[in-house]
Amino acid sequence: MTPADLAFDQRHIWHPYTSMSQPLPVYPVIAAAGCELQLADGRMLVDGMSSWWAAIHGYNHPRLNQAMKAQIDSMSHVMFGGITHPPAVELCRKLVAMTPAPLECVFLADSGSVAVEVAMKMALQYWHAKGQPRQRFLTFRNGYHGDTFGAMSVCDPDNSMHSLWQGYLPEHLFAPAPQCGFGDEWNEMDIVPFARLMAAHREEIAAVILEPVVQGAGGMRFYHPEWLRRLRRMCDREGILLIADEIATGFGRTGKLFACDHAGISPDIMCLGKALTGGTMTLSATLATRHVAETISDGEAGCFMHGPTFMGNPLACAVASESLALLAQGDWQQQVQAIEHQLREGLLPLTASENVADARVLGAIGVVETRRPVDMAALQRFFVEQGVWIRPFGRLIYLMPPYIISPEQLNKLIMAVTHAVKNPAFFR
Ligand code: PMP
Repeated sequence: MTPADLAFDQRHIWHPYTSMSQPLPVYPVIAAAGCELQLADGRMLVDGMSSWWAAIHGYNHPRLNQAMKAQIDSMSHVMFGGITHPPAVELCRKLVAMTPAPLECVFLADSGSVAVEVAMKMALQYWHAKGQPRQRFLTFRNGYHGDTFGAMSVCDPDNSMHSLWQGYLPEHLFAPAPQCGFGDEWNEMDIVPFARLMAAHREEIAAVILEPVVQGAGGMRFYHPEWLRRLRRMCDREGILLIADEIATGFGRTGKLFACDHAGISPDIMCLGKALTGGTMTLSATLATRHVAETISDGEAGCFMHGPTFMGNPLACAVASESLALLAQGDWQQQVQAIEHQLREGLLPLTASENVADARVLGAIGVVETRRPVDMAALQRFFVEQGVWIRPFGRLIYLMPPYIISPEQLNKLIMAVTHAVKNPAFFR
């Protein structure tokens, strides 16, 4: 890429959550393989991000590539209305088999945010079909569910700037974020405000929506799985639906195949995305129980009112199916365990540094929470100079590498974080 390409990018192309008037630098990547990204100037960076939870098998995986190549030669896409095809059937069969048993009706869509829209719409249509329309969702603070309006309405009101959308976003119910951490002793008091909120609005709430165990982009917080067992029981008692957004946590990242497995519970609706295609293409799936699907279908509309153009895209389904086949070989369990062990050894001692407020690890996720917000541009530059790709935000420096990362590569990531937190120049 030439300097002119980069200048064009800065002038004309939006990047995620980045200013068009004062854009932060972007790094040109021209190839990626295994656990490494190759910059245009030839430098190789060890990837600590899995491209935002997605590239669990690493980049340029020969089996994923082959699945896409083979599918391109038969058809890249065909509409899903009135048509089906082998990649969709094969993928959905696998999803139904691997998710908790009551989830058996799969809606395929384009991205994580759309999967959340679909889940919320399912809950609204469910209650409409029962003749008792309900329009509110109950969730935690510090949550994150995507950037479309429905999803945003259940994201943390401060982080996603609900003040900007006042009068436009529906107002849902926010309970305090769980305080009882993943490894802590269960504290009965933690759940009291949530239970009170549910009791006060029991007739209005269509569904509880949450990220099970790991609150991701809203703060990288790990909470006690007992929360999920309690909420499952409370929802059952009130007849309220439970939506688990496993878009970030699904497919092994937390050490279990799904984060709900830490609690042994099953939601009524589950959202999947990100790692579904092994990080190669955008695709999501929203799974519902037969009860939810049939209630919706027997209602006034007679069907679920959603059907995106690229629903069930064969190319994305084919590569997702192959990614699930790779997972089914089972290596991920041992890989995630080894990553967890190494992250614990490397990151937890960083709490001794005066710049660090907390360090925590769960599965293949390592988080260092700093006392002051990071200087993103300076820290990003430092990481690139160290030969690693780590994208911090706010007061969070976190690692979630591809499962295939080697101990040496992971050590390089950990050392870069270790050096970074010792330098006060990287904090505002
Ligand atoms: N839910 C969760 C838990 C997520 O982490 C994300 C993405 N960060 C989304 C939903 C939205 O997914 P997408 O960016 O694919 O729309």
